[in-house]
Amino acid sequence: MNTQRIPLAGVIGQPINQSKSPQLHGHWLKRYGINGHYIPMEVSSVDLPHVLNNLPKMGFRGINVTIPHKEAVLDMADVISDRAALIGAANTLTFQSDGKLHADNTDGYGFTANLKQEAPDWAPKSGPALVLGAGGAARAIVAALLHEKVPEIFLSNRTRARADALKAHFGGKITVVDWTQAASHLDEIGTLVNTTALGMSGKEELKLNLERLTPKTLVTDIVYTPLVTPLLAAARVIGCPTVDGLGMLLHQATPGFERWFGQVPKVDAELRRALLT
Ligand code: NAP
Repeated sequence: MNTQRIPLAGVIGQPINQSKSPQLHGHWLKRYGINGHYIPMEVSSVDLPHVLNNLPKMGFRGINVTIPHKEAVLDMADVISDRAALIGAANTLTFQSDGKLHADNTDGYGFTANLKQEAPDWAPKSGPALVLGAGGAARAIVAALLHEKVPEIFLSNRTRARADALKAHFGGKITVVDWTQAASHLDEIGTLVNTTALGMSGKEELKLNLERLTPKTLVTDIVYTPLVTPLLAAARVIGCPTVDGLGMLLHQATPGFERWFGQVPKVDAELRRALLT
């Protein structure tokens, strides 16, 4: 009789039905013939400590964490990766064999890995970046861009105080720009990133005057529904290299899958197709 436990992993959040992670990990489990399961679990904030305590006893090797638990799980972790500590949130938890709970944040890694795969000529050091938005995703992306040694980040958010808070956290390389003035920096930058929800299906469009945008700037949008957002479509007309946001979602999942199921998974066209159907 095979007494080895079937490896389990999953994603917790509230709500959870919108998560694409089960489809993503499910695809990899099937592709690599792994006898494991990845399960979406709706968990309230009240139940969170109890759930984290009990999942490893049930055979879970780790979980992804989504809204609203990304910050709260840090208080319950025994070991926090440097990047999760820097960002102040975690999306990937591992129940270690020594009983400790390890918390990591792979969003910034996913962002960078996507750009490196889809735009191999991207040269972050070659010029400043303009980041639109200052929410949770922007935090991870600012950390990732600084890690890639961009010389300066212009940061612009509708609510200026949130951008000021990111500058206070990450320091000197960030220049906060008024939301109405963001377009004035477009001719200076090597990288443009939309981290706001604008441009997403069902939401307002991002209204940014692209007159000063030049073809040397790499333009990326982390919104991936639609895959080609109005920002990316307009940047393509100007001749800019563009990268859509789906790859960030796919790449951020790879470290967890490797840790829990022991296989480095591939992010490729087959996976993208599977997620889009
Ligand atoms: P969040 O923390 O709620 O932040 C939302 C951001 O969008 C804030 O900067 C907010 O500005 C801005 N915003 C929202 N409505 C706006 C409007 N009408 N006008 C101007 N700015 C507006 O959300 P998040 O977690 O950072 O996620 C942001 C987007 O990225 C979402 O669409 C999410 O689905 C997507 N995302 C994609 C990935 C991926 O893997 N591709 C990963 C994470 C997130 P204020 O501060 O002024 O409200």
